[in-house]
Amino acid sequence: MMAKQKTQSLKVIIAVILVCIFLITFSGIFLFMNFKEEQFVGAINEDIDMSQSVLIISIDAFRHDYFECAEAPNLKGMSDQIHIQKLIPPFPSKTFVSHYSQITGLYPAWSGIVANTMYDSEQNLTFSIGSSSSQESFWWWGEPFWISNQREGHLSGTVFWVASEVGIYGRNESPTYPTYYLSYDRDVTYKARIDQFFDWLDLPEAIRPNFYTLYFESVDDMGHMYGPCSKEVTEAIEDVDNWIGYLIRGLEARGLWKAPNGLNVIVDSDHGMTKTSKDKVIIIDDYIQIETSLIHCAHMEHLHLYPSLKDDFRYNDLDCQKRNSQLFHDDSRQNKKRFQKNLNQNSPSQDYEAQVVNFSPVTQIIPAEGKEEQVYQKLVNASQNWTVYKKEDVPSKYHYSWEGNSRIKPIIIVLDLGWSISDRAYYEKYPDNFNGGNHGYANDHDDMAGFFVASGPAFVQENNSIEKLENLEIYQILQKIVGLKNPAPNNGTMKNVESLFQ
Ligand SMILES: [Zn+2]
Repeated sequence: MMAKQKTQSLKVIIAVILVCIFLITFSGIFLFMNFKEEQFVGAINEDIDMSQSVLIISIDAFRHDYFECAEAPNLKGMSDQIHIQKLIPPFPSKTFVSHYSQITGLYPAWSGIVANTMYDSEQNLTFSIGSSSSQESFWWWGEPFWISNQREGHLSGTVFWVASEVGIYGRNESPTYPTYYLSYDRDVTYKARIDQFFDWLDLPEAIRPNFYTLYFESVDDMGHMYGPCSKEVTEAIEDVDNWIGYLIRGLEARGLWKAPNGLNVIVDSDHGMTKTSKDKVIIIDDYIQIETSLIHCAHMEHLHLYPSLKDDFRYNDLDCQKRNSQLFHDDSRQNKKRFQKNLNQNSPSQDYEAQVVNFSPVTQIIPAEGKEEQVYQKLVNASQNWTVYKKEDVPSKYHYSWEGNSRIKPIIIVLDLGWSISDRAYYEKYPDNFNGGNHGYANDHDDMAGFFVASGPAFVQENNSIEKLENLEIYQILQKIVGLKNPAPNNGTMKNVESLFQ
């Protein structure tokens, strides 16, 4: 009896497993068919002329030589028309800094975004990726391309780009957003992002944008976690390339790919990536006494990369945004006054020599009042693996010492390629967070260079390969394609990009 029951139960289990296998297989085939079908949605419409329209796609941290470590047939195919082998990021080579330079044509000292984590003396506010404070207009100087475009009566549609969800003035009287935009959400699938772009592309001409953006972050995520050209990075590149293929097939189905009336498509990256290791970390409090009560604010970039840290690392976005000014001496007169006033009421909680704004390959240091020279002297020869500058001595090739920008602090530390910086407490608790990869180093290292490929009727048709270009020239390239008549003042030079065009 017991044996019979067991046999029956076994049969039921086997039957359930078989049904599950059938359902999984069937739904897989169904999804595949669905996928195939959707590739060819959209009808060829020869009346549409998109030859003065452009889509720019950013693949975060796609290093210039990543074609050598992954199969990427769709991107390689685009490089047959236009290929800038090394797209040089601004200094420092960080995501927010670089994307905003590209889209405004400005060096960071003039774009306002000088780091991914920064402290504004005048407003007494801290900027960090993803914080609500970063949505304030005052951080964002210059004029993003979508505003320049809309000022001339055109429309823009952005599926993610740094600053696209912030109201920015540019030359306008009030904060301006892209005509259509999505707020950044990394959980939106790549397919949904591309389909959103197609929805805008399929709008009637009167309400259809001439300027579009897309953004993919997985190559950067894997590069930070596992290092450049790791198996995970290779898989991420191949996945993104598949989605570029999906995009191309959708454009082909609409008659807008490699056609005289087709859409111009640019794919580029904001910076490269280099290998890092926990054996190459400089501990700054071995050399100077740092202010520690808000030190977690300086680790914001790591908190962003490793969200689980928020559980056990003291994390309070709000107290980072609105700092207690009594703790900080700063280089603005207004802040000095506030500092002195608070000092009289309530002495700082500890005696320190400097405050670290951000732990990054380019690190900003605010010396305590009266200790500027002391801090500089202690740091300048402390390590063989960094270069320490007073702000006014940063080499002119980095365009980073403009005195009008108080977000660039009095002392700048520039780490050698592959090195990291930390305070001892954080390093001892999370040493493994320094393994993998990073970017943000000086922009003249080859490993920090990104890439640029493009296809479309606006560009020269024969193979055109250029060795290198600074990425703030992207503003000129976009301007040229859409025929902007009145561009915003910027640091670019049209002559540098003319050879790309017919
Ligand atoms: Zn990036």
